[in-house]
Amino acid sequence: MNQTDEKYEVLIVGGGVVGTALLYTLSNYSNIRNICLIEKYSDFGLVNSASYNNSQTLHFGDIETNYTIEKARKVKAMADMVMNYLEREKSNDPAGKLFSKFSKMVLAVGSEQVAGLRKRYPPFGELFPKLKIIEKEEIGTIEPRILEGRNPDQELLALLTEDGYTVDFKKLCHSFVDNSLKKNPLLSIHLNTRLLKVSKEEDHYKVVTNTGEIRAKVLVIAAGGHSLMIAKSLGYGKNLSILSMAGSFYTGPKVLNGKVYTIQQPKLPFAAIHGDPEVHNAEVTRFGPTAMPIFQLERHNWRSFGEYWKTFGLGIKPVLSLVKILFDRTIFAYVFTNFLYEIPYFGKRLFIREVRKIVPSVRLSELRFAKGIGGTRPQIINNTTKKLELGEAKLTGDNIIFNITPSPGASTCLGNAYTDTAKIVEFLGAEYKFDKEAFENDFFKPS
Ligand SMILES: Cc1cc2nc3c(=O)[nH]c(=O)nc-3n(C[C@H](O)[C@H](O)[C@H](O)COP(=O)(O)OP(=O)(O)OC[C@H]3O[C@@H](n4cnc5c(N)ncnc54)[C@H](O)[C@@H]3O)c2cc1C
Repeated sequence: MNQTDEKYEVLIVGGGVVGTALLYTLSNYSNIRNICLIEKYSDFGLVNSASYNNSQTLHFGDIETNYTIEKARKVKAMADMVMNYLEREKSNDPAGKLFSKFSKMVLAVGSEQVAGLRKRYPPFGELFPKLKIIEKEEIGTIEPRILEGRNPDQELLALLTEDGYTVDFKKLCHSFVDNSLKKNPLLSIHLNTRLLKVSKEEDHYKVVTNTGEIRAKVLVIAAGGHSLMIAKSLGYGKNLSILSMAGSFYTGPKVLNGKVYTIQQPKLPFAAIHGDPEVHNAEVTRFGPTAMPIFQLERHNWRSFGEYWKTFGLGIKPVLSLVKILFDRTIFAYVFTNFLYEIPYFGKRLFIREVRKIVPSVRLSELRFAKGIGGTRPQIINNTTKKLELGEAKLTGDNIIFNITPSPGASTCLGNAYTDTAKIVEFLGAEYKFDKEAFENDFFKPS
Protein backbone atom coordinates (compact mmCIF):
# COMPACT_ATOMS: atom_id res chain seq x y z
CA MET A 1 0.00 0.00 0.00
CA ASN A 2 1.36 3.40 -0.92
CA GLN A 3 0.19 6.12 1.42
CA THR A 4 2.13 8.98 -0.16
CA ASP A 5 -0.91 11.20 -0.61
CA GLU A 6 -2.66 10.35 2.60
CA LYS A 7 -3.36 13.36 4.78
CA TYR A 8 -5.21 13.23 8.06
CA GLU A 9 -6.35 15.46 10.84
CA VAL A 10 -4.98 13.02 13.41
CA LEU A 11 -2.49 10.18 13.11
CA ILE A 12 -2.08 7.77 16.03
CA VAL A 13 1.08 5.69 16.08
CA GLY A 14 0.72 2.45 18.07
CA GLY A 15 -2.12 -0.05 18.26
CA GLY A 16 -1.82 -1.00 21.93
CA VAL A 17 -4.52 -0.25 24.47
CA VAL A 18 -3.49 3.42 24.72
CA GLY A 19 -3.60 4.10 20.95
CA THR A 20 -6.84 2.18 20.40
CA ALA A 21 -8.56 3.83 23.42
CA LEU A 22 -7.76 7.18 21.82
CA LEU A 23 -9.07 5.99 18.44
CA TYR A 24 -12.30 4.96 20.19
CA THR A 25 -12.69 8.26 22.06
CA LEU A 26 -11.97 10.42 19.00
CA SER A 27 -14.34 8.39 16.81
CA ASN A 28 -17.22 8.27 19.27
CA TYR A 29 -17.02 11.56 21.13
CA SER A 30 -15.53 14.12 18.72
CA ASN A 31 -16.44 15.44 15.29
CA ILE A 32 -12.98 14.62 13.89
CA ARG A 33 -13.57 12.14 11.07
CA ASN A 34 -10.28 12.03 9.23
CA ILE A 35 -8.24 9.81 11.53
CA CYS A 36 -5.53 7.21 10.90
CA LEU A 37 -3.88 4.66 13.17
CA ILE A 38 -0.73 2.74 12.27
CA GLU A 39 0.66 -0.31 14.04
CA LYS A 40 3.94 -1.97 13.11
CA TYR A 41 2.77 -5.53 13.86
CA SER A 42 0.09 -7.64 12.19
CA ASP A 43 -2.44 -7.19 15.02
CA PHE A 44 -3.41 -4.82 17.83
CA GLY A 45 -2.13 -5.31 21.36
CA LEU A 46 0.75 -7.65 20.69
CA VAL A 47 3.31 -5.86 22.85
CA ASN A 48 2.71 -4.79 26.49
CA SER A 49 -1.07 -4.89 26.07
CA ALA A 50 -0.98 -8.61 25.21
CA SER A 51 -2.70 -10.61 27.96
CA TYR A 52 0.35 -12.82 28.44
CA ASN A 53 2.67 -9.80 28.83
CA ASN A 54 1.01 -8.00 31.76
CA SER A 55 -0.75 -8.81 35.03
CA GLN A 56 -4.24 -8.43 33.51
CA THR A 57 -5.37 -6.29 36.46
CA LEU A 58 -7.60 -3.26 36.34
CA HIS A 59 -5.73 -1.23 38.96
CA PHE A 60 -7.96 1.05 41.03
CA GLY A 61 -5.49 1.87 43.82
CA ASP A 62 -7.44 0.14 46.59
CA ILE A 63 -5.07 -2.80 47.12
CA GLU A 64 -1.87 -1.26 45.70
CA THR A 65 -0.22 -0.20 48.94
CA ASN A 66 2.50 1.91 47.31
CA TYR A 67 -0.13 4.37 46.07
CA THR A 68 -0.76 7.48 48.14
CA ILE A 69 -4.41 8.43 48.61
CA GLU A 70 -3.97 11.20 45.97
CA LYS A 71 -2.56 8.76 43.42
CA ALA A 72 -5.29 6.21 44.25
CA ARG A 73 -7.97 8.88 43.71
CA LYS A 74 -6.58 9.70 40.25
CA VAL A 75 -6.09 6.07 39.19
CA LYS A 76 -9.56 5.11 40.47
CA ALA A 77 -11.25 7.82 38.40
CA MET A 78 -9.57 6.42 35.27
CA ALA A 79 -10.02 2.74 36.14
CA ASP A 80 -13.73 3.48 36.72
CA MET A 81 -13.91 4.59 33.07
CA VAL A 82 -12.53 1.24 31.86
CA MET A 83 -14.81 -0.60 34.30
CA ASN A 84 -17.87 1.25 32.92
CA TYR A 85 -16.76 0.43 29.38
CA LEU A 86 -16.32 -3.27 30.23
CA GLU A 87 -19.68 -3.50 31.98
CA ARG A 88 -21.37 -1.85 29.00
CA GLU A 89 -19.67 -4.22 26.56
CA LYS A 90 -20.66 -7.33 28.55
CA SER A 91 -23.70 -7.89 26.35
CA ASN A 92 -21.47 -7.87 23.22
CA ASP A 93 -19.15 -10.39 24.85
CA PRO A 94 -21.32 -13.37 25.85
CA ALA A 95 -18.32 -15.71 25.98
CA GLY A 96 -16.71 -13.45 28.62
CA LYS A 97 -13.47 -13.05 26.71
CA LEU A 98 -12.91 -9.40 27.56
CA PHE A 99 -12.72 -9.74 31.33
CA SER A 100 -13.43 -11.91 34.36
CA LYS A 101 -14.34 -10.86 37.87
CA PHE A 102 -12.79 -12.24 41.03
CA SER A 103 -12.44 -11.10 44.61
CA LYS A 104 -9.20 -9.26 45.32
CA MET A 105 -7.35 -8.57 48.52
CA VAL A 106 -4.12 -7.15 49.84
CA LEU A 107 -2.65 -9.34 52.53
CA ALA A 108 -0.62 -8.09 55.50
CA VAL A 109 1.56 -10.70 57.19
CA GLY A 110 3.12 -10.15 60.62
CA SER A 111 2.46 -7.51 63.25
CA GLU A 112 4.25 -4.63 61.51
CA GLN A 113 2.40 -5.04 58.20
CA VAL A 114 -0.90 -5.64 60.00
CA ALA A 115 -0.55 -2.39 61.98
CA GLY A 116 0.36 -0.51 58.79
CA LEU A 117 -2.65 -1.86 56.88
CA ARG A 118 -5.04 -1.08 59.73
CA LYS A 119 -3.79 2.51 59.74
CA ARG A 120 -4.11 2.73 55.96
CA TYR A 121 -7.71 1.54 55.87
CA PRO A 122 -9.83 4.55 57.04
CA PRO A 123 -9.08 7.00 54.15
CA PHE A 124 -8.97 4.19 51.59
CA GLY A 125 -12.19 2.69 52.94
CA GLU A 126 -13.82 6.08 52.41
CA LEU A 127 -12.55 6.37 48.82
CA PHE A 128 -13.47 2.75 48.05
CA PRO A 129 -16.82 2.09 49.74
CA LYS A 130 -16.78 -1.61 48.77
CA LEU A 131 -13.39 -2.18 50.39
CA LYS A 132 -13.66 -3.98 53.71
CA ILE A 133 -11.17 -4.98 56.32
CA ILE A 134 -11.16 -8.70 57.12
CA GLU A 135 -9.50 -10.73 59.88
CA LYS A 136 -7.77 -14.08 59.71
CA GLU A 137 -10.85 -16.30 59.92
CA GLU A 138 -12.62 -14.59 57.04
CA ILE A 139 -9.42 -14.60 54.98
CA GLY A 140 -9.37 -18.38 55.42
CA THR A 141 -12.98 -18.73 54.27
CA ILE A 142 -12.29 -16.82 51.06
CA GLU A 143 -8.78 -18.13 50.38
CA PRO A 144 -8.25 -21.37 52.34
CA ARG A 145 -4.72 -21.86 51.03
CA ILE A 146 -3.54 -18.65 52.65
CA LEU A 147 -4.00 -20.36 56.04
CA GLU A 148 -3.06 -23.91 55.07
CA GLY A 149 0.38 -24.78 56.48
CA ARG A 150 0.85 -21.32 58.05
CA ASN A 151 2.16 -20.78 61.57
CA PRO A 152 -1.10 -20.27 63.54
CA ASP A 153 0.54 -17.52 65.62
CA GLN A 154 1.29 -15.37 62.58
CA GLU A 155 -0.84 -12.21 62.49
CA LEU A 156 -2.84 -11.67 59.28
CA LEU A 157 -5.12 -8.93 58.03
CA ALA A 158 -6.49 -8.11 54.58
CA LEU A 159 -8.41 -5.46 52.70
CA LEU A 160 -10.92 -7.13 50.40
CA THR A 161 -13.29 -6.19 47.64
CA GLU A 162 -15.44 -8.43 45.45
CA ASP A 163 -14.84 -6.21 42.41
CA GLY A 164 -11.52 -7.47 41.08
CA TYR A 165 -11.45 -7.06 37.31
CA THR A 166 -9.07 -9.27 35.34
CA VAL A 167 -8.89 -7.91 31.82
CA ASP A 168 -7.61 -9.21 28.50
CA PHE A 169 -6.20 -5.87 27.36
CA LYS A 170 -5.50 -7.20 23.85
CA LYS A 171 -9.19 -8.04 23.49
CA LEU A 172 -9.94 -4.58 24.83
CA CYS A 173 -7.83 -3.13 21.98
CA HIS A 174 -9.98 -5.08 19.50
CA SER A 175 -13.17 -3.97 21.18
CA PHE A 176 -12.06 -0.30 20.97
CA VAL A 177 -11.20 -0.69 17.26
CA ASP A 178 -14.49 -2.47 16.44
CA ASN A 179 -16.51 0.22 18.21
CA SER A 180 -14.50 2.94 16.44
CA LEU A 181 -15.20 1.42 13.03
CA LYS A 182 -18.91 1.06 13.84
CA LYS A 183 -19.07 4.80 14.42
CA ASN A 184 -16.76 5.81 11.59
CA PRO A 185 -16.29 3.10 8.93
CA LEU A 186 -14.01 5.45 6.98
CA LEU A 187 -11.25 5.32 9.58
CA SER A 188 -7.85 4.46 8.15
CA ILE A 189 -6.17 1.64 10.03
CA HIS A 190 -2.89 0.23 8.74
CA LEU A 191 -1.35 -2.83 10.37
CA ASN A 192 2.20 -3.92 9.48
CA THR A 193 3.05 -0.23 9.13
CA ARG A 194 6.04 1.04 11.05
CA LEU A 195 6.90 4.69 11.65
CA LEU A 196 10.50 5.04 10.48
CA LYS A 197 10.99 8.78 10.59
CA VAL A 198 8.98 11.85 11.42
CA SER A 199 9.52 15.52 10.60
CA LYS A 200 7.53 18.74 10.98
CA GLU A 201 6.66 20.56 7.77
CA GLU A 202 4.79 23.89 8.05
CA ASP A 203 1.27 22.99 9.27
CA HIS A 204 1.65 19.21 9.40
CA TYR A 205 3.85 16.26 10.30
CA LYS A 206 5.33 14.02 7.63
CA VAL A 207 5.63 10.41 8.76
CA VAL A 208 7.74 8.07 6.71
CA THR A 209 6.70 4.43 7.13
CA ASN A 210 7.80 1.17 5.54
CA THR A 211 4.75 1.39 3.24
CA GLY A 212 4.80 5.05 2.25
CA GLU A 213 4.37 8.55 3.64
CA ILE A 214 1.53 9.90 5.74
CA ARG A 215 0.81 13.52 6.60
CA ALA A 216 -1.19 14.63 9.62
CA LYS A 217 -1.99 17.93 11.33
CA VAL A 218 -1.81 16.30 14.77
CA LEU A 219 0.34 13.35 15.75
CA VAL A 220 -0.13 11.17 18.83
CA ILE A 221 2.64 8.69 19.58
CA ALA A 222 1.32 5.82 21.69
CA ALA A 223 4.24 3.48 21.14
CA GLY A 224 5.14 2.53 24.74
CA GLY A 225 8.88 2.99 25.39
CA HIS A 226 9.39 3.82 21.72
CA SER A 227 7.41 7.04 22.24
CA LEU A 228 10.43 8.55 23.99
CA MET A 229 12.74 7.52 21.17
CA ILE A 230 10.47 9.25 18.64
CA ALA A 231 10.11 12.28 20.95
CA LYS A 232 13.89 12.63 21.14
CA SER A 233 14.18 12.50 17.34
CA LEU A 234 12.05 15.68 17.31
CA GLY A 235 13.90 17.36 20.17
CA TYR A 236 11.47 16.56 22.99
CA GLY A 237 12.20 14.81 26.31
CA LYS A 238 15.95 15.36 26.11
CA ASN A 239 16.25 15.19 29.93
CA LEU A 240 14.51 11.81 30.14
CA SER A 241 15.72 8.23 29.79
CA ILE A 242 14.09 4.86 30.31
CA LEU A 243 14.67 2.15 32.86
CA SER A 244 13.13 -0.83 31.11
CA MET A 245 11.83 -3.22 33.81
CA ALA A 246 11.00 -6.63 32.41
CA GLY A 247 8.47 -8.68 34.35
CA SER A 248 8.24 -12.48 34.32
CA PHE A 249 5.68 -14.81 35.83
CA TYR A 250 5.53 -18.25 37.43
CA THR A 251 2.35 -20.27 36.96
CA GLY A 252 0.80 -23.10 38.90
CA PRO A 253 -2.51 -24.91 39.40
CA LYS A 254 -5.40 -23.11 41.06
CA VAL A 255 -4.23 -22.31 44.57
CA LEU A 256 -6.19 -19.06 44.91
CA ASN A 257 -9.83 -18.20 44.18
CA GLY A 258 -9.13 -14.54 43.50
CA LYS A 259 -6.37 -11.95 43.35
CA VAL A 260 -4.07 -11.72 46.35
CA TYR A 261 -1.58 -8.86 46.52
CA THR A 262 1.20 -8.45 49.04
CA ILE A 263 2.23 -5.23 50.77
CA GLN A 264 4.39 -3.11 48.46
CA GLN A 265 7.55 -1.24 49.25
CA PRO A 266 6.71 2.47 48.94
CA LYS A 267 10.02 3.26 47.22
CA LEU A 268 9.41 0.88 44.32
CA PRO A 269 7.27 1.85 41.35
CA PHE A 270 6.59 -1.80 40.41
CA ALA A 271 3.85 -4.01 41.76
CA ALA A 272 4.88 -6.41 44.51
CA ILE A 273 4.51 -10.11 43.77
CA HIS A 274 0.87 -11.11 43.60
CA GLY A 275 -1.16 -14.18 42.75
CA ASP A 276 -3.94 -13.89 40.16
CA PRO A 277 -6.25 -16.27 38.34
CA GLU A 278 -5.48 -16.29 34.60
CA VAL A 279 -8.08 -14.20 32.72
CA HIS A 280 -9.26 -17.08 30.52
CA ASN A 281 -8.56 -20.00 32.83
CA ALA A 282 -9.27 -19.71 36.54
CA GLU A 283 -7.73 -23.15 37.03
CA VAL A 284 -4.32 -21.51 36.58
CA THR A 285 -2.81 -19.14 39.15
CA ARG A 286 -0.08 -16.77 37.99
CA PHE A 287 2.48 -15.33 40.39
CA GLY A 288 4.55 -12.30 39.54
CA PRO A 289 5.58 -10.10 37.95
CA THR A 290 9.27 -10.00 38.71
CA ALA A 291 11.18 -6.81 37.90
CA MET A 292 14.51 -6.99 36.12
CA PRO A 293 16.19 -4.19 34.14
CA ILE A 294 16.86 -5.03 30.50
CA PHE A 295 18.49 -2.92 27.82
CA GLN A 296 15.67 -3.28 25.30
CA LEU A 297 12.65 -1.09 24.64
CA GLU A 298 10.57 -4.14 23.82
CA ARG A 299 11.02 -7.53 25.45
CA HIS A 300 11.78 -10.53 23.20
CA ASN A 301 12.76 -8.10 20.41
CA TRP A 302 16.54 -7.79 20.02
CA ARG A 303 16.20 -5.04 17.45
CA SER A 304 15.07 -2.84 20.32
CA PHE A 305 18.50 -3.17 22.04
CA GLY A 306 19.98 -0.46 19.79
CA GLU A 307 16.76 1.54 20.11
CA TYR A 308 17.06 1.37 23.89
CA TRP A 309 20.48 3.03 23.88
CA LYS A 310 19.35 5.60 21.34
CA THR A 311 16.55 6.50 23.75
CA PHE A 312 18.75 6.33 26.84
CA GLY A 313 21.09 9.05 25.54
CA LEU A 314 24.85 8.97 25.29
CA GLY A 315 25.88 11.70 27.75
CA ILE A 316 27.20 11.27 31.27
CA LYS A 317 23.94 12.50 32.86
CA PRO A 318 21.77 9.43 32.08
CA VAL A 319 24.60 7.12 33.20
CA LEU A 320 24.90 8.98 36.52
CA SER A 321 21.11 8.81 36.99
CA LEU A 322 21.04 5.08 36.30
CA VAL A 323 23.91 4.43 38.71
CA LYS A 324 22.26 6.56 41.41
CA ILE A 325 18.92 4.80 40.98
CA LEU A 326 20.20 1.23 40.75
CA PHE A 327 22.71 1.61 43.58
CA ASP A 328 20.10 2.86 46.01
CA ARG A 329 20.19 0.15 48.68
CA THR A 330 16.51 -0.87 48.48
CA ILE A 331 16.37 -0.85 44.70
CA PHE A 332 19.68 -2.68 44.31
CA ALA A 333 18.65 -5.49 46.66
CA TYR A 334 15.27 -5.77 44.98
CA VAL A 335 16.64 -5.78 41.44
CA PHE A 336 19.41 -8.24 42.29
CA THR A 337 16.97 -10.72 43.84
CA ASN A 338 14.63 -10.33 40.88
CA PHE A 339 17.49 -11.03 38.50
CA LEU A 340 18.11 -14.32 40.35
CA TYR A 341 14.45 -15.33 39.85
CA GLU A 342 15.14 -15.64 36.11
CA ILE A 343 17.93 -18.21 36.52
CA PRO A 344 16.84 -21.77 35.65
CA TYR A 345 16.63 -24.24 38.58
CA PHE A 346 17.90 -21.74 41.18
CA GLY A 347 15.34 -18.99 40.38
CA LYS A 348 12.31 -21.12 41.15
CA ARG A 349 13.75 -22.21 44.50
CA LEU A 350 14.23 -18.58 45.46
CA PHE A 351 10.96 -17.29 44.04
CA ILE A 352 8.92 -19.86 45.96
CA ARG A 353 9.79 -18.00 49.16
CA GLU A 354 7.76 -15.03 47.84
CA VAL A 355 4.87 -17.27 46.80
CA ARG A 356 4.87 -18.92 50.24
CA LYS A 357 4.19 -15.55 51.84
CA ILE A 358 0.79 -15.91 50.15
CA VAL A 359 0.37 -19.70 49.91
CA PRO A 360 2.64 -21.30 52.55
CA SER A 361 1.90 -24.88 51.49
CA VAL A 362 2.73 -24.42 47.81
CA ARG A 363 5.08 -27.14 46.55
CA LEU A 364 8.06 -26.63 44.27
CA SER A 365 6.57 -29.06 41.77
CA GLU A 366 3.46 -26.85 41.51
CA LEU A 367 5.37 -23.85 40.15
CA ARG A 368 6.62 -23.40 36.60
CA PHE A 369 8.54 -20.49 35.07
CA ALA A 370 6.32 -19.05 32.33
CA LYS A 371 8.78 -18.93 29.44
CA GLY A 372 8.37 -16.14 26.88
CA ILE A 373 5.69 -14.48 29.02
CA GLY A 374 5.89 -10.91 30.36
CA GLY A 375 6.58 -7.54 28.79
CA THR A 376 8.66 -4.63 29.97
CA ARG A 377 7.68 -1.45 31.79
CA PRO A 378 9.25 1.77 30.47
CA GLN A 379 9.90 3.55 33.79
CA ILE A 380 10.92 7.15 33.26
CA ILE A 381 14.26 8.39 34.55
CA ASN A 382 14.42 12.13 35.04
CA ASN A 383 18.06 13.09 34.39
CA THR A 384 17.59 16.51 35.97
CA THR A 385 16.50 15.13 39.36
CA LYS A 386 18.30 11.77 38.78
CA LYS A 387 15.15 10.05 40.05
CA LEU A 388 12.70 7.48 38.80
CA GLU A 389 9.30 8.97 38.04
CA LEU A 390 6.28 6.95 39.10
CA GLY A 391 3.60 6.03 36.55
CA GLU A 392 2.95 7.22 33.02
CA ALA A 393 4.57 10.21 31.32
CA LYS A 394 3.08 12.50 28.72
CA LEU A 395 5.03 15.00 26.64
CA THR A 396 3.03 17.61 24.79
CA GLY A 397 4.52 19.76 22.04
CA ASP A 398 3.58 21.59 18.88
CA ASN A 399 0.46 19.65 17.73
CA ILE A 400 2.04 16.48 19.03
CA ILE A 401 1.59 14.22 22.09
CA PHE A 402 3.84 11.38 23.26
CA ASN A 403 2.53 8.79 25.74
CA ILE A 404 5.03 6.65 27.65
CA THR A 405 3.17 4.04 29.62
CA PRO A 406 4.50 1.84 32.41
CA SER A 407 1.95 0.21 34.74
CA PRO A 408 -0.90 1.03 35.31
CA GLY A 409 -1.03 2.36 31.75
CA ALA A 410 -3.66 -0.13 30.63
CA SER A 411 -5.98 0.75 33.54
CA THR A 412 -5.74 4.46 32.77
CA CYS A 413 -6.12 4.17 28.97
CA LEU A 414 -9.54 5.86 28.74
CA GLY A 415 -8.56 8.62 31.17
CA ASN A 416 -5.52 9.22 29.04
CA ALA A 417 -7.67 9.25 25.89
CA TYR A 418 -10.00 11.80 27.53
CA THR A 419 -7.07 14.17 28.21
CA ASP A 420 -5.59 13.65 24.74
CA THR A 421 -8.90 14.18 22.93
CA ALA A 422 -9.40 17.53 24.71
CA LYS A 423 -5.87 18.57 23.70
CA ILE A 424 -6.25 17.39 20.08
CA VAL A 425 -9.46 19.40 19.63
CA GLU A 426 -7.64 22.44 21.06
CA PHE A 427 -4.77 21.85 18.58
CA LEU A 428 -7.14 21.60 15.60
CA GLY A 429 -9.15 24.74 16.30
CA ALA A 430 -12.65 26.07 16.83
CA GLU A 431 -14.56 23.94 14.31
CA TYR A 432 -13.64 20.75 16.17
CA LYS A 433 -15.58 19.61 19.21
CA PHE A 434 -15.13 17.00 21.94
CA ASP A 435 -18.49 15.98 23.43
CA LYS A 436 -17.11 15.79 26.96
CA GLU A 437 -20.57 15.64 28.46
CA ALA A 438 -21.46 12.48 26.53
CA PHE A 439 -18.12 10.87 27.48
CA GLU A 440 -18.58 11.82 31.13
CA ASN A 441 -22.17 10.52 31.16
CA ASP A 442 -20.95 7.21 29.82
CA PHE A 443 -17.79 6.72 31.86
CA PHE A 444 -17.64 9.01 34.89
CA LYS A 445 -19.79 6.70 37.04
CA PRO A 446 -17.85 5.85 40.22
CA SER A 447 -17.55 2.24 41.40
C1 LIG B 1 4.88 -7.32 33.54
C2 LIG B 1 3.87 -6.21 33.35
C3 LIG B 1 2.70 -6.21 34.10
C4 LIG B 1 1.77 -5.20 33.91
N1 LIG B 1 0.58 -5.28 34.57
C5 LIG B 1 -0.36 -4.34 34.37
C6 LIG B 1 -1.63 -4.46 34.99
O1 LIG B 1 -1.94 -5.44 35.64
N2 LIG B 1 -2.52 -3.46 34.81
C7 LIG B 1 -2.23 -2.35 34.06
O2 LIG B 1 -3.06 -1.47 33.94
N3 LIG B 1 -1.05 -2.24 33.43
C8 LIG B 1 -0.12 -3.22 33.55
N4 LIG B 1 1.06 -3.13 32.90
C9 LIG B 1 1.30 -1.98 32.03
C10 LIG B 1 0.52 -2.10 30.73
O3 LIG B 1 0.76 -3.36 30.14
C11 LIG B 1 0.94 -0.98 29.79
O4 LIG B 1 0.90 0.25 30.48
C12 LIG B 1 0.02 -0.87 28.59
O5 LIG B 1 -0.15 -2.10 27.94
C13 LIG B 1 0.60 0.17 27.66
O6 LIG B 1 -0.17 0.24 26.50
P1 LIG B 1 0.43 0.98 25.24
O7 LIG B 1 -0.62 0.96 24.20
O8 LIG B 1 1.00 2.28 25.64
O9 LIG B 1 1.70 0.11 24.86
P2 LIG B 1 1.81 -1.24 24.00
O10 LIG B 1 0.72 -2.18 24.32
O11 LIG B 1 3.19 -1.71 24.16
O12 LIG B 1 1.54 -0.72 22.54
C14 LIG B 1 2.45 0.10 21.84
C15 LIG B 1 2.27 -0.23 20.39
O13 LIG B 1 3.05 0.65 19.61
C16 LIG B 1 3.56 -0.09 18.50
N5 LIG B 1 4.72 0.60 17.96
C17 LIG B 1 5.90 0.83 18.58
N6 LIG B 1 6.74 1.47 17.74
C18 LIG B 1 6.07 1.66 16.58
C19 LIG B 1 6.40 2.25 15.31
N7 LIG B 1 7.61 2.78 15.10
N8 LIG B 1 5.47 2.27 14.33
C20 LIG B 1 4.22 1.73 14.53
N9 LIG B 1 3.86 1.14 15.69
C21 LIG B 1 4.78 1.11 16.71
C22 LIG B 1 3.90 -1.44 19.13
O14 LIG B 1 4.02 -2.46 18.18
C23 LIG B 1 2.74 -1.65 20.08
O15 LIG B 1 1.67 -2.39 19.52
C24 LIG B 1 2.02 -4.14 33.00
C25 LIG B 1 3.18 -4.16 32.23
C26 LIG B 1 4.09 -5.20 32.38
C27 LIG B 1 5.29 -5.23 31.52
